[in-house]
Amino acid sequence: MYYDFVLGGFVLINILIVEDEAPISNLIRLSLAKEGYRCTCAFDGLEAADYLEKNQYDLIVLDVMLPEIDGFELMDYIRPLEIPVIFLTAKSSVQDRVKGLKLGAEDYIVKPFEVIELLARIDVVLRRYKKGDMMLEIGDLKIDTASMQVWRDGQEISLTKTEYDLLLLFVRNPRRAMYRETIYEQVWGEEYPFGSKAVDLHIQRLRKKVGWENCLRAINKVGYRLEVET
Ligand code: CA
Repeated sequence: MYYDFVLGGFVLINILIVEDEAPISNLIRLSLAKEGYRCTCAFDGLEAADYLEKNQYDLIVLDVMLPEIDGFELMDYIRPLEIPVIFLTAKSSVQDRVKGLKLGAEDYIVKPFEVIELLARIDVVLRRYKKGDMMLEIGDLKIDTASMQVWRDGQEISLTKTEYDLLLLFVRNPRRAMYRETIYEQVWGEEYPFGSKAVDLHIQRLRKKVGWENCLRAINKVGYRLEVET
């Protein structure tokens, strides 16, 4: 038996995905849904405007190149609604990125992108807007991502910032084999220095603090995987 999220006090975040390419739209929707976000997909600007008229959204992932109304034109419609926007732009177009930011987008991401990067950016933007606040319960741990506090069986655990970031990375990617390099880049925010033992050392300490000696499993030649028993 492995872990399951208990969504106690979980605040549902509504995200509108505006992207005309179905495979990309699906990939984003599935990845976000897996993180607990509620998603709506619009496949052109007009459909997006329609959804925006009828529903409340906490964040919009907006492709620039769209049929009917493009992403930039749609910004005129979105701005008064004060919903944070992350643009999806083509790799070649620096001008598009600058234009998107000038039009009031919170951030942009360049295609092709790694889903994990999009998730990280969404997380940052939601936190900036104080919308990502939520309580997570996993195994015997309770995590308040707003106050960054962690409890085990009701007892608060004191973690360093690095340990907390590590914990959240695993909690958000349960049962997924995580490469040492990926873990390092996600938590330290820089390229993995070859042969670094930083990840292993911090995971050792995190395991002890949260009592996850048997849950945070080392995977030979890869990295780690979280397997929380319930
Ligand atoms: Ca497009």
